[in-house]
Amino acid sequence: MYYHKILVIGGGLAGLRAAIESAPRVDTAIISQVHPVRSHSGAAQGGVNASLANNPAAADDNWEKHGFDTVKGSDYLADQDAAEFMTKEAAPCIIEMEHWGCPFSRTDEGKIAQRPFGGAGYPRTCYATDKTGLYMLHTLWERSVKLDVPLYEDRVLVDVVLEGGACRGVICWNMKTGELEPFMAEAVIFASGGSGQIYARSTNALISSGSALAAAYRRGVPIKDMEFIQFHPTSLFGTNILMTEGARGEGGYLINSLGERFMSKYAPKVMELGPRDIVSRSIQTEINEGRGIDGKDYVYLDLRHLGREKILERLPGIRDLAMNFVGVDPIDNPVPIQPGQHYTMGGIDTDVDGATKFRGLYAAGECGCVSVHGANRLGGNSLLDTVVFGKRSGAVAAEYVLSKKTEKEGEAAVQKCLREAKERIQMLLDRNGPENHADIREEMKQTMIFKVGIFRSKKPMEEALAKIRELKERYQRITIQNKGKVYNVDLVRAQELEGMLDVAEAIVTGALKREESRGAHSRLDFKERDDVNFLKHTVATYSPSGPIITYSPVKITKYKPEARRY
Ligand SMILES: Cc1cc2nc3c(=O)[nH]c(=O)nc-3n(C[C@H](O)[C@H](O)[C@H](O)COP(=O)(O)OP(=O)(O)OC[C@H]3O[C@@H](n4cnc5c(N)ncnc54)[C@H](O)[C@@H]3O)c2cc1C
Repeated sequence: MYYHKILVIGGGLAGLRAAIESAPRVDTAIISQVHPVRSHSGAAQGGVNASLANNPAAADDNWEKHGFDTVKGSDYLADQDAAEFMTKEAAPCIIEMEHWGCPFSRTDEGKIAQRPFGGAGYPRTCYATDKTGLYMLHTLWERSVKLDVPLYEDRVLVDVVLEGGACRGVICWNMKTGELEPFMAEAVIFASGGSGQIYARSTNALISSGSALAAAYRRGVPIKDMEFIQFHPTSLFGTNILMTEGARGEGGYLINSLGERFMSKYAPKVMELGPRDIVSRSIQTEINEGRGIDGKDYVYLDLRHLGREKILERLPGIRDLAMNFVGVDPIDNPVPIQPGQHYTMGGIDTDVDGATKFRGLYAAGECGCVSVHGANRLGGNSLLDTVVFGKRSGAVAAEYVLSKKTEKEGEAAVQKCLREAKERIQMLLDRNGPENHADIREEMKQTMIFKVGIFRSKKPMEEALAKIRELKERYQRITIQNKGKVYNVDLVRAQELEGMLDVAEAIVTGALKREESRGAHSRLDFKERDDVNFLKHTVATYSPSGPIITYSPVKITKYKPEARRY
């Protein structure tokens, strides 16, 4: 049995930041499915928001304006105390990253450079060319090495041990040996990233399955606002690799088959720099109405007018991706793009400290829902969320552990959970039916993107719910071809699919019940936002017959909900 006082699940930005905060005070270890520097955070391109006011065009920017933009962007579903906390902490957290060696791009005076991003009143997105996440991740990884934080890599969390309202530890599958391993802890911080792989056309890494969130959900940990799925306006047609919002921040145009900058119809004031929900809907509308390029499912992202020098200096990664994956050099030709699933606004239900309703159980980063993003996240606010709330949850978990009077409780509960996990995995391996889990996964992904996607309405979503339930039933009849122990990816994929289907069911159920349009949740049959009935968070609690949906209030401090115009 392994034991650490704090276990952090995930080695992305949120997990590393949490561990860096707690490790100097309390014995802390990181458990991660992939090596930390391979976490999805490393794929983040465009930047991270903080009202540093370094750009001459942002001289009078401040955290309150950032807070307002965040709340407005969220379509007033964000908890305003949490949004205020995040935007206030933004500048100190980014300066701290700088002091730890994060190589941000610079202004001519040597300050951290900032570019405009969608839905923001000022250019406040700090960046490191178009590889911001990579540089931030390596900075925090080095820091965790310096602090000697123990790392258990190639471990897949398959269960979380909850007993008497408290978290006692987790059960992980060691991919190197194929053995299930019990871990005991006084506190566990989930930092396991998003659930994007539930959808087809996702910009997320394969690792972003939501498997850890699903394991917690299955044990009774409530998940919040899961129906709010962000679609990024510009993913590369064919692969859905992300083309950063920074490309539009630097001045890129969106063009339809008629050669029009069509955003003038949808967000005349801010054009291409509207918030993501609005720009994605605009692109999809152009495509649906036949103005996609050559009548196909894409429009153009045109960067040619930025010129060679700016593209090479500010967007080198975007250029490489476009050249390598679709053979287009953005210096000479427009890039074919379409909206792609991008971010999970919902997640494990937490308060502003990252605390859940279970003692000793915390969540931070994309797997959590504090909630600062509400119904629509602003670009650059997620990297910020990971460092601000990673730090916060690490600090609060350390305080909690130091204040505990008893230790190492619940060994029997951990052993029981281990036995159950072993039985479940064995039953999975013993199944001998005609179904293939990869087919079921693909049907789930297609169902979600086409029936619970950018535009939604009752009938397709009811069909989606029926389909997900059918897939759950067919899942009982799969066969896993690879019965081996070492790096059995076949088994990992099959095992995580069960949880993904549960989470998909929670997404559809919440979306069906939310009879309004708010942020990324856009219903053709309920086109208006309905603050009287739906200014509230959706909370899904697992039951074997499907999610139980309840609601919780949104915290409003000073911004009264008003119409959202750009
Ligand atoms: C292509 C792309 C570009 C982006 N660009 C930006 C941007 O420019 N600005 C911005 O603000 N946001 C951006 N985002 C969003 C942002 O990058 C992510 O939301 C954020 O990095 C998530 O960090 P995280 O630490 O929560 O999770 P991740 O970085 O996803 O890390 C999750 C960790 O959990 C571990 N894990 C997962 N499941 C398990 C399990 N079952 N058992 C054990 N370990 C597990 C993984 O090994 C991994 O270490 C982008 C996202 C994508 C996909």
